[in-house]
Order: sequence, then C-alpha cells, then structure tokens
Amino acid sequence: MKKKVLITGAAGFLGSHLCDRFIKEGYHVVAMDNFITGDKKNIEHLMGLEHFEFVAHDVTNFIELRGKLHYILHFASPASPIDYLKIPIQTLKVGALGTHNLLGLAKAKNARMLIASTSEVYGDPLVHPQSEDYYGNVNAIGPRGVYDEAKRFQESITMAYHRFHGIETRIARIFNTYGPRMRLNDGRVIPAFIGQALRGEDLTVFGDGSQTRSFCYVDDQIEGIYRLLLSNYSDPVNIGNPHEITIKEFAEEVIKLTGTKQKIVYKELPQDDPLQRQPDITLAKKILNWEPKISRAEGMKLTYNYFKSLSKEELYKSAH
Ligand code: NAD
Ligand code: UDP
Repeated sequence: MKKKVLITGAAGFLGSHLCDRFIKEGYHVVAMDNFITGDKKNIEHLMGLEHFEFVAHDVTNFIELRGKLHYILHFASPASPIDYLKIPIQTLKVGALGTHNLLGLAKAKNARMLIASTSEVYGDPLVHPQSEDYYGNVNAIGPRGVYDEAKRFQESITMAYHRFHGIETRIARIFNTYGPRMRLNDGRVIPAFIGQALRGEDLTVFGDGSQTRSFCYVDDQIEGIYRLLLSNYSDPVNIGNPHEITIKEFAEEVIKLTGTKQKIVYKELPQDDPLQRQPDITLAKKILNWEPKISRAEGMKLTYNYFKSLSKEELYKSAH
C-alpha cells in the first residue's frame, strides 16, 4: 500500500513541484486547490495518473477525506505581495481557518502535517542573517501584516496542536524561492524582471535597490521540505539559500542574462518592504544534512528558459 499525502495549494508554484516529487517517490497524492492564485496547467501532466487525484476545494471550508492519510503538506496561501494585498481577507483566512481545518484533519487521521511558513515571520529583520530563534519585527497593521500575521498564527496553532493534541508537525520557514511555474505576472521580483526583459520594458527596481534578498532554486527548496517532513524535528527550520544580493545588482544580473537593451527604472519602495533578508541555515544543515546545491546563475538560466518558452499571450496577460 502506498502512503497517502494531501498537498494543499497543489496548483501553485511550490505545491505543483511537491506533487511531482511525491509521485516520483511512490506516494499516492491527493492534490487540493481552489485556483485563487494557482493554475491547472501546473498539474495537468499528473491528471489521469493512477496515484494522483485532484480535489477542487477551498481549505477555509471544512475538509472531508475518506480513508487513511499519512501526511499533509499545507501550501495553500497567496504568496506574492501583490496577491495578498489584493486578497487580504482570503490570505488571513487560509493561514488561520485553513490551517485549523487541516490540523483537525491531521488529528482525525493521525497524520503528520508540515506547514509552509515563511521568512516573513521575521518581518523587516533587525537581526541578520535570520536564525530560527529570532522573534521578528512585524508590523501587524501594515499592508503586509495580513500575510505575516496569518503565517505567525499558523505557526502558533500548529505548535498548539503539537503540544496539546500530540500531533506530529513540521514547520518550514521558506525564504524567497524561484523557478519554473511561477506566474509571470505574480509581481514577485524574478518573474517581474524576466517578464519585463522579454517584453522589452525597463526593469522596475523598487526603492534604491539596496534592499537584499537571498534566492533559492525550487529543486533545492523541495529537497529541504522533503527531508524536513521525514525528519523528527518539530520546531521551525529555515529553508533557503544564504547567497544574498541587492535588488539593484540582481536587476543587473537579469539584464546580462537576458541580453535586454532596456535599463533600470526606480519606483517607490512598497511599505514595510524588508530591507535585508538572508537565512541562517545552520540548523537545516545539522538536522537535515541539507544545503542548496544550485547556484543562482544555474537556477536563473533554467528559469529564464522556462519563461522564454511561454506563449506571447501569456507574456502579455496583465496581472489578474
Ligand atoms: P502560489 O500562489 O503559486 O500557490 C499557492 C496556491 O494555493 C495556489 O495554487 C492557490 O490557488 C492556492 N490557494 C490559495 N488559497 C487557497 C484556499 N483557500 N484553498 C485552496 N487553495 C488555495 O504560491 P507559492 O509560491 O507556490 O507558495 C506556496 C506556499 O509556500 C504558500 O503558503 C506560501 O506562503 C509559502 N511560501 C512561498 C515562498 C516562495 O518564495 N515561493 C516563500 C515563503 C513561503
Ligand atoms: N521588487 C522590485 N521590483 C519589482 C518587484 C519587486 O524591486 O518589480 C523588489 C521588492 O520591493 C523587494 C524584492 O524585490 O524588495 C523582492 O520582492 P518579492 O515581491 O519578490 O518578494 P518579497 O521578498 O518582498 O516577499
């Protein structure tokens, strides 16, 4: 009998790569999504497989699944700033009510549950790089607060179910991850810059571009999550690539990679945009024996090739 795993947010960027990985590892995958920011195309290639089933469902509503369930990976949530600014209430609900429903399901089925938390729990960090023992610097009432606080509540209720009900839980604090199947118009910096280069538009750097991020290629991220799920560690673990770069330097790298003749233009920095971000992955190295293997140059080439292969119609589709 194959082990059964429920993946929420399965039609999204990370969720669809997780589906691929669990199918490859020989699991029976139940994929769940309501398509609010996802796309059927991301999982089309899995439809019809004997051990893949898709359930269209909003996880903020009661979830019922028949039979045994061994693992739950809760990845449903808008993840890009323009998405969660556009659908703030759904973002809060999927982190809070959605997580509550899924923990209830985990309890009923005696399943192990991993949640997709985020580096955003550290907010605009005053400690650098960020290690798991840092409590963070989040503006609860700012526009990004809907995402950050939903994720902080998600961690809190997950630990409560772990402590109070003895549920086996895992918490991945995911740092900026990129790769094929990101939505070209989701507003995150990598699809934004590559899309602009492909359309012959200038690259929009927000602020003066001195803010930093550390980008992790999706295959490395999925490996880290997979190892964390199978580990016996229930406190949060940072999963990301510590190689940090300023957004301005990154825009210059994209200009070089794509060969675009366009230039950089500067736009206003969004409110509460974190000034620096770099994961301390000492813990992941120690307990998961994991660290990223794919360089930014290699990962960006793969990602650029993916975006280049999309149709003109997709390239020019406006955001939402
Ligand atoms: P995504 O937007 O591509 O995928 C999210 C998926 O969740 C979409 O398919 C969407 O339709 C689905 N969804 C949203 N609300 C739902 C609901 N109520 N019911 C059912 N499905 C719902 O985003 P992503 O980048 O793949 O992110 C996936 C998860 O990883 C999110 O929880 C996000 O917070 C977390 N995360 C991602 C990153 C990153 O860099 N990609 C970083 C930190 C955390
Ligand atoms: N950014 C930018 N230009 C864009 C999109 C984003 O300069 O067109 C910046 C954004 O202000 C942030 C960084 O790139 O400082 C990463 O943004 P993203 O939305 O990818 O993720 P975040 O880490 O902020 O959630």
